Amino acid sequence: MDKTPEDKVKELKRELKKTRSHLEIFYELTKAMRKTLHLEEISYIILTGLTSHQSLRYNRAALFFVDNEKKEIKGFMGLGPMDGKEASEVWQHISDEKKDLYTLIENYHLIKKDKNNQPDFMKFIQSLKFPIDPKSGLIFDSLKGEIFWIKKGNKQLKDDPLVKRLNLDEFIIAPLKIKGEITAILIVDNYITKKKISKEDFKMLEMFSEQAAGALENSYSFELTLTKAHTDPLTGLWNYGYFQYKLDEELAKAKSTKQTISVLMIDIDDFKNYNDSFGHIQGDKALKKIGETIKNNCRKIDIVCRYGGEEFSLILPSNDKKEARLLAERIRKSIAKNNILNYRFTISVGVANFPKDGIEKKKLTKKADGALYEAKNKGKNCTVTC
Ligand code: GH3
Ligand code: MG
Ligand code: MG
Repeated sequence: MDKTPEDKVKELKRELKKTRSHLEIFYELTKAMRKTLHLEEISYIILTGLTSHQSLRYNRAALFFVDNEKKEIKGFMGLGPMDGKEASEVWQHISDEKKDLYTLIENYHLIKKDKNNQPDFMKFIQSLKFPIDPKSGLIFDSLKGEIFWIKKGNKQLKDDPLVKRLNLDEFIIAPLKIKGEITAILIVDNYITKKKISKEDFKMLEMFSEQAAGALENSYSFELTLTKAHTDPLTGLWNYGYFQYKLDEELAKAKSTKQTISVLMIDIDDFKNYNDSFGHIQGDKALKKIGETIKNNCRKIDIVCRYGGEEFSLILPSNDKKEARLLAERIRKSIAKNNILNYRFTISVGVANFPKDGIEKKKLTKKADGALYEAKNKGKNCTVTC
């Protein structure tokens, strides 16, 4: 039956309304994304934008990043059915502007910190890895740059690794180009409601992913600049400035979560002699190697810095004194026995602990420094704990 002119007008009005609401979402999203440059925060905004009821309403949204060094596509963040309420709250606030976005982002950091209470879908996505290899199937194919809208019941894809792991049926997979290269991949679906994805939804997602890629690109450049500014060029470790900044941050965290932190101060023994005998350039090489040895003995979460000259400082989150001492001794022994550049280097280490030896940054570093000084007085090549 042909549509009456009234029906056509009604339909046009409906579409107009939808388009208007989509444009509003875009506007809010762009505004929200401009407020932060941190990669995780931007990603969170993107995913809440995709899943909340006020915006695109997908049941699940996941973001993957391409790691060309490790040759894998790794799950970065996922918002799923469990988080629908939370996503809606975020978007309610974004559109109402009742609360500053920063408060909500803080909320995200709180969720993140509470490791035992991570939403299941987030944990699941972060556990996923696909090699950059044709055998990874669709997620690998999406690296070629095309956005795919996979319709319900696609039989060809029933054994696809991504489809199987995520139990996908109808979904969209969108590659995001950052600085001319596919760097991220977005996946959305309606896992719970099984709602069909419409042509408009698809068009909308296409536009949304371009917007998201732009925001990610800005944040990527920002994080890169930040990293560069905080990296010691000789050793590739964090520099003094970053140590100061990070220790403040870690202390604040430890205070609020009532956790402990240890600080290590390390100084190479008689390094002047080495420089005098082998020259400054060789001395630089040794510094780099010693830095690497220190780092290789640490956990991923430890913050290893070059404090200055031939001194290193380490922040060890959630390590008590005993654990910190064990690590210090492991590093010290590893350097003493490693014959770096065919030379028997030794180090002295001072250990201080929050809250036992100091609550404030200044006091804590001073204590670690004092312990290091004592280690030198004791004859070097040893560890002293406050
Ligand atoms: P101690 O066991 O008491 O620490 O003796 P030391 O000779 O290591 O200590 P001192 O503080 O007297 O001298 C540190 C020396 O480290 C001075 C300098 O020759 C060397 N040094 C500091 N920074 C650098 C650097 O960036 N490159 C090189 N090659 N040497 C450095
Ligand atoms: Mg020194
Ligand atoms: Mg020294």
